[in-house]
Amino acid sequence: VFELGLFPAREGDALILSWGDAAAPQRILIDAGRASTAKTIKAYARKRQLGPGAFELFVITHIDRDHIEGAVALLGDAWFRKRVKGVWFNGRKDLKYAPPAPGYETFGALQGEALTNLIQQHAVPWNTAFGDAPVAIVGGSLPVIEIGGLKLTIVSPDLKQLAALAHPWDEQVSEKAPSGWETYGEEAIDIGALAKTPFRPDRAKPNGSSIAMIAEYGARRILLTGDAHVARLRASLDQYANRQPGLRHMCLVKASHHGSRGNTSLELVSELVCPHWVISTNGDHFGHPDQEAIARILAASPPPVCLFFNYATDRTRAWAATALTPNTIYQASFGEDGLLSIDLAALPNCCV
Ligand SMILES: [Zn+2]
Ligand SMILES: [Zn+2]
Repeated sequence: VFELGLFPAREGDALILSWGDAAAPQRILIDAGRASTAKTIKAYARKRQLGPGAFELFVITHIDRDHIEGAVALLGDAWFRKRVKGVWFNGRKDLKYAPPAPGYETFGALQGEALTNLIQQHAVPWNTAFGDAPVAIVGGSLPVIEIGGLKLTIVSPDLKQLAALAHPWDEQVSEKAPSGWETYGEEAIDIGALAKTPFRPDRAKPNGSSIAMIAEYGARRILLTGDAHVARLRASLDQYANRQPGLRHMCLVKASHHGSRGNTSLELVSELVCPHWVISTNGDHFGHPDQEAIARILAASPPPVCLFFNYATDRTRAWAATALTPNTIYQASFGEDGLLSIDLAALPNCCV
């Protein structure tokens, strides 16, 4: 098996990647959404009677609450903690190139501290594969870690992005809804025009600190982005595929930052040559996904494109094919209340 599961993480991410023997697959957990998501993940583990160490790894990509809040709940739970062999998480100690930030009290930083305390208090193996270094691109080469046949290549963050988070460790993504949001009506969406809107990159430092990785199993590669920045991802992909350009072609991409317009550019999409895109969000707080990002995905990916949304909301349902220009060939599928499972081994037209 090679499978990606999405959990009801509200506006955030909570992913389980499973691979290996169908009877006893190996698993890693990547982010855990909001606090309520933790309950669903625990129920998943109980239902499958997962034993101690069932999760090879728990990656917390960055400190924004839609990724970390559930992680604090899960690592605070003794039963669940036993099921985790180790965590990857860049805490305050990993942002070592700047002095401690003043006035460091907003939610994400506090959650980051809470998570750090839990990890230390319970001696959960922490960033072990990286020694004393953070989970990041250090120097020229992309770190590669193998776990039982699954190969993980780190493509974000770099040390500069981690250092940039140190000073405003408490800086959070603005809670206000994006300006100029237009609600979807009955009208067709003009993909061509939307795709060409100028790209304004996300500059939020917590997002830039996201751990993003390419996961490979068998001949298939997927890109898991957290909320990473486009420039870092493109630079890493250049490096990853420098000897063999075809390596940048992905079987599936989890769109960065919940399909925000600032984290998906036309250039990135064209370079990935990927027919399957996943968007994890229920649209709370930020109105994700942005229609510009989805339009870029549809405009620059090889058809037929499959869009996977874990929630059916007004914003995501607008991408059901019937509402769209007739010459765009793609499919949209929806999870049930945030739950969605994708059989990566069965996806067609992959990594070609
Ligand atoms: Zn996020
Ligand atoms: Zn974020």
